Amino acid sequence: MATETNIFQELISHCKEYGYIFQSSELYDGLSAVYDYGQLGAQLKKNLRDEWWKSMTQMHENIVGIDAAIFMHPTVWKASGHVDNFSDPMIDNKDSNKRYRVDHLIEGYAETLDKEAGDAVLAAMDKLIAADDLPGLKALIEEHKIKCGVSKTCNWTDVRQFNLMFSTQIGSVAEEADTIYLRPETAQGIFVNFLNVQKTGRMKIPFGIAQTGKAFRNEIVARQFIFRMREFEQMEMQFFVRPGSQMEWYNYWKDERKKWHQSIGIPADKLRFHDHVKLAHYADAALDIEFEFPFGWKELEGIHSRTDFDLTQHAKFSKKKIQYFDNDLNEEGKPYGNYTPYVVETSVGLDRLFLTVMSLAYTDEKWTKEDGTEDGRIVLKIPAKIAPTKLAILPLLKKDGLPEIAKELMNDCKSNFMCFYEEKDAIGKRYRRMDAIGTPFCVTIDHQTKEDNTVTIRYRDDMRQERIPLADVKKLVMEKLSS
Ligand code: ATP
Repeated sequence: MATETNIFQELISHCKEYGYIFQSSELYDGLSAVYDYGQLGAQLKKNLRDEWWKSMTQMHENIVGIDAAIFMHPTVWKASGHVDNFSDPMIDNKDSNKRYRVDHLIEGYAETLDKEAGDAVLAAMDKLIAADDLPGLKALIEEHKIKCGVSKTCNWTDVRQFNLMFSTQIGSVAEEADTIYLRPETAQGIFVNFLNVQKTGRMKIPFGIAQTGKAFRNEIVARQFIFRMREFEQMEMQFFVRPGSQMEWYNYWKDERKKWHQSIGIPADKLRFHDHVKLAHYADAALDIEFEFPFGWKELEGIHSRTDFDLTQHAKFSKKKIQYFDNDLNEEGKPYGNYTPYVVETSVGLDRLFLTVMSLAYTDEKWTKEDGTEDGRIVLKIPAKIAPTKLAILPLLKKDGLPEIAKELMNDCKSNFMCFYEEKDAIGKRYRRMDAIGTPFCVTIDHQTKEDNTVTIRYRDDMRQERIPLADVKKLVMEKLSS
């Protein structure tokens, strides 16, 4: 029987085989936890990013989008707290020299116990992490005799904090060069542009600034494919609100974001909220939207009420005033006046969203045919509106004028949606290939097309086929994409 782990491994192979995702620098044996998106992966990723961007900016008249640089002034990361606090507790095994994130090491151990015992270990760990008790964490590991997966010994170093930011040098002369960081989140590019956007866009509170882009973290335990990468992409939105109203907006965005995930085809029962036990230094409330990945429930998106922490810090470190003048009237009929806005953040990883969509889409179907023989297919049931290719146009034969009709259809459709043309191989084989890459609609042009101008359209999910007028193909696909 196929286990969840097997299915996950199959999904990873499938992503490679069909041009979705490749290991980075594979030619040189790869670079750990870094991945390249292939021809179909890049398109699916773009479609997801476009959906998010549209839902944030086009669908909210009070949210605008920006594109800040990856490199930022080094003081940004001092002000944000990343230089001092962006770290995870790590422990090394002295025999294998393997480094572990302490929470992952203990979680891995807890999974080997029965539920009650496992929960007790996790509860003890949460308490120690919340108290920043590093010796306590080491004692917990020793008490349970948790072993290194490689050396199988319990010979551990002390627990230490390890900063996750990558650094590099800016400037051409080594002595004068400054250390700068590759951003570990996109949010700070929004905070430092708060006044620029508010003033030039004449934005009135409440309003949001959205951004998508690369972020970099030197993750120690980098596994589970694109779930945890060292270079990844975030889609973040900072919503600036009046102090005191943050919980109202926090709840609003919590619901909005869950609804958005459902709108791109993620079933409600595969999503859940997880409130944070330990709040980050900047937050007064935080939760994760978790998805049930093939390896368990894990964070897909974070919703954080970040208070006025970031803007206040940037005002302090830059020695500039970062405030908003609110001339709306309060209950006493007076303007609210000057204040530092509070912020509610929504932050989703594009790669994790990609993995979510792929884990839901990957289906291994088997059935018995009428003649009693077994048949089956691997199909990616990606919702049509985000599928990389929407329509495959397939002339039955490479002759008799069929390719010409097919190419004419292709030319008519390709400015409206992504099409794929294929004239090689038997039609059944071509359908299977389109199933495997997740193309929702296939159209076959055959000899009857020449007689009555009709074609066969085949639907990926139920393999239904019907005859429709050639002239209706574009309209039908567009209707399906917008429904
Ligand atoms: P985790 O606890 O899994 O390390 P996090 O709480 O540090 O995640 P955030 O800082 O809240 O994550 O980042 C927001 C989002 O960015 C996450 O919900 C996730 O989707 C994505 N993300 C964070 N780190 C990574 C990573 N290393 N690889 C891929 N996506 C990531």
